[in-house]
Amino acid sequence: MNYPPILNTIFQKIREYDRILLFRHIRMDGDCVGATKGLKELIKNTFPQKDVRIIDYQHSDFLSFLGPDDDSIPDEMYGEALGIVLDTGSSDRISNQKYTLCKELIKIDHHIEREPYGDYRWVEEKRSSCCEMIAAFYAAFRQEWHISPAAATYIYTGMITDSGRFQYEGVTGDTLRLAGLMLEQGVDTERLFAHLYLKDFESLKFKAYVYDQMQRTENGVAYLYIDRGVQEKFGLTLEDASAAISYMDSIRGCLCWLAFIENQDDTIRVRLRSRSAPINHIAEKYRGGGHANASGATVLNEQEMQSLLKEADEWIRHYKENHTGWM
Ligand code: AMP
Repeated sequence: MNYPPILNTIFQKIREYDRILLFRHIRMDGDCVGATKGLKELIKNTFPQKDVRIIDYQHSDFLSFLGPDDDSIPDEMYGEALGIVLDTGSSDRISNQKYTLCKELIKIDHHIEREPYGDYRWVEEKRSSCCEMIAAFYAAFRQEWHISPAAATYIYTGMITDSGRFQYEGVTGDTLRLAGLMLEQGVDTERLFAHLYLKDFESLKFKAYVYDQMQRTENGVAYLYIDRGVQEKFGLTLEDASAAISYMDSIRGCLCWLAFIENQDDTIRVRLRSRSAPINHIAEKYRGGGHANASGATVLNEQEMQSLLKEADEWIRHYKENHTGWM
């Protein structure tokens, strides 16, 4: 495996600083939590005297099994710290905006780069997860890092959640080799999979609702609008409601699927997913971005929702005219 020279700089910076603060994106997911906790654990195991913290002000029920984050510190203490932002394409999406107080900042990310922020950047858009990059970072300095089953478990968590258990396009031989390296450290996959994939009885009722109510445009865009009434009816958090996107991912003929989730402030979160056809350009037109086949956006009302839907349908029609075969 070949590693980019920036890894030497990042490792050097980690050596240099006594305090290191790790940051992630808003609406935390398995990858940004796994990457921050995994890197923290690697640094702590290797350099026990360093003060390494993840200071976040969000909470996720789904990921709470990975354990809490750290206590906050006074603002002055940020000034002596190295900040490392993981899995976050643009700086407005960093969940703890105090990252600006850090002395120096490193960006490690696998999203399509729209905004190059930070003093040092390691961005690989083709990596299936940011955790894969942390695993690669571990592999590059294997003789020096001290890893533990906990670190490997955090990293493996992001690798499986962001790649849909190794099924999405970004998965390569390198992904599986690095995942293998993590498994060798003693990841308890049965326990991990139980935490990630067992469903509550009620959430399966919601899944049945999604299958009953989902719609399809003429050219094969599956979609569903989950307004606050539905969220209340099923007792869903926004995070629960957002899971609807994954239920629509295997419909023959539908290359694109969208979940619209009404937020508390009346705006509508859009989750966009696709097979083969990229859809990030549509997300970018509606205050969003992300990856070619997995993006997020926000629309302000139902009218905008309809126009996004229309654009997605038109794009899929065009795409299908120019691509035929298995899809
Ligand atoms: P989501 O549907 O929210 O899980 O988002 C899918 C992917 O797009 C994730 O990698 C997000 O980090 C990214 N993403 C979501 N919303 C935005 C946004 N507004 N701007 C840039 N990237 C986003």
